[in-house]
Amino acid sequence: MQTTLLDGETIAAKAEQGEAMHALLRDLFPFARSITGAGLRATIRRLGEVVPLDVTEVPSGKQVFDWTVPDEWSIDEAFIENDRGQRIVDLRDSNLHVVGYSVPVDVTLTLAELRSHLHTLPEHPDWIPYRTSYYTRSWGFCLADRVLEALPEGRYRAVIGSRLVPGSLTLAEHFHRGATDDEVLIFAHDCHPSLANDNLSGLAVAVHLAAWLRHRATRYSYRFVFAPATIGSIAWLSINEARLARISHGLVLSVLGGEGPFHYKVSRAGNRSIDRIAWHVLRTEFADARRLDFLPWGYDERQFCSPGIDLPMGRLTRTPNGEFPEYHTSADSPSFVTAQALGEAWLACLKIADAIEGDATYVNLSPRGEPQLGRRGLYRSTGGYQDVPERQLALLWVLNQSDGNASLLDIAERAGLPFTVIARAASDLEGAGLLARVPA
Ligand code: ZN
Repeated sequence: MQTTLLDGETIAAKAEQGEAMHALLRDLFPFARSITGAGLRATIRRLGEVVPLDVTEVPSGKQVFDWTVPDEWSIDEAFIENDRGQRIVDLRDSNLHVVGYSVPVDVTLTLAELRSHLHTLPEHPDWIPYRTSYYTRSWGFCLADRVLEALPEGRYRAVIGSRLVPGSLTLAEHFHRGATDDEVLIFAHDCHPSLANDNLSGLAVAVHLAAWLRHRATRYSYRFVFAPATIGSIAWLSINEARLARISHGLVLSVLGGEGPFHYKVSRAGNRSIDRIAWHVLRTEFADARRLDFLPWGYDERQFCSPGIDLPMGRLTRTPNGEFPEYHTSADSPSFVTAQALGEAWLACLKIADAIEGDATYVNLSPRGEPQLGRRGLYRSTGGYQDVPERQLALLWVLNQSDGNASLLDIAERAGLPFTVIARAASDLEGAGLLARVPA
């Protein structure tokens, strides 16, 4: 059986899927997410409206590899007011105003004293930065530099109504069962508060991929994991360590809704099959795609590709984290992300999945000379054209290379043609009795 995830329906759905992902992203944007707590759970409930999710609560204090699940953080209010009781900064205006995991505080300070707890971006004076302090107990506010620079000397009251108490960290996953137990793992972090490209774009693309696969037959099983960055992926890996051997391919998804071409960051080894497949699909089908070497920095690929885990997982983004000025600021808002970019990312992931599903090895049943394709309706009958259409070239490449050793991916790489074109040629040749599949 030749599975294809790229029928006409899929291609036609790209724009509509993009709009749906952008609507989901706008819904999720206001939630006060963190690595634990109510905003994270509300996010999981909303994603659970798209596909069913299994939720695991990992208790505070649990040891997960070298880490300990922290206390759960919640916050009701946070503000800075001047000596006339006017609020200068208020959490109600933006979730980014308070440093994530700030301890509770109610103090009155001089402006100079307060400054050491304030974070701004002088180079973008109207933007609010995003800052956290998960593992060092402290407190702080983030605000536009223009607001800070306009503050007169005086005394200010800073109030953070937060709680840090034992609770749990929330993990969620969706499983799509395929014909085999071999798994494709898709991971997206879900801990950032009101930021759109990082990371709501990753969540939207992942959950819509899950929804699209749900009613389709696949060879591989697909596991979608939604978890807070770092501590969440570490907790998930720690809990599931005995089952990691089933993972044949994986992708970390984030930063997929902004401008910029696709960037594929290879796994730790750099030569796993996901590395070949993802890079082949992107370079042959998406303009200006870039391949990045592995680097133990970035998102949760750091955990999936740690030496004792070493999964075959790459990372797909557009312009990566830290390389666009809006990153981790209030300018990373829903208007920074487009439905078109999300739809394109969704399709790119499906094309990668299609190549994972469809790679196979064939043998040419008529290898002495080229078989006569025109007689079988596979070749245009009028010869002499100067340009050889991609499809005809694909037929010839598949026939020439299908010696029982080269897989369709090998052939696609050698031909420099999109995997989908090679796979369709193979399917047509098989249908014409010219090709037989070598059992895996
Ligand atoms: Zn981030």
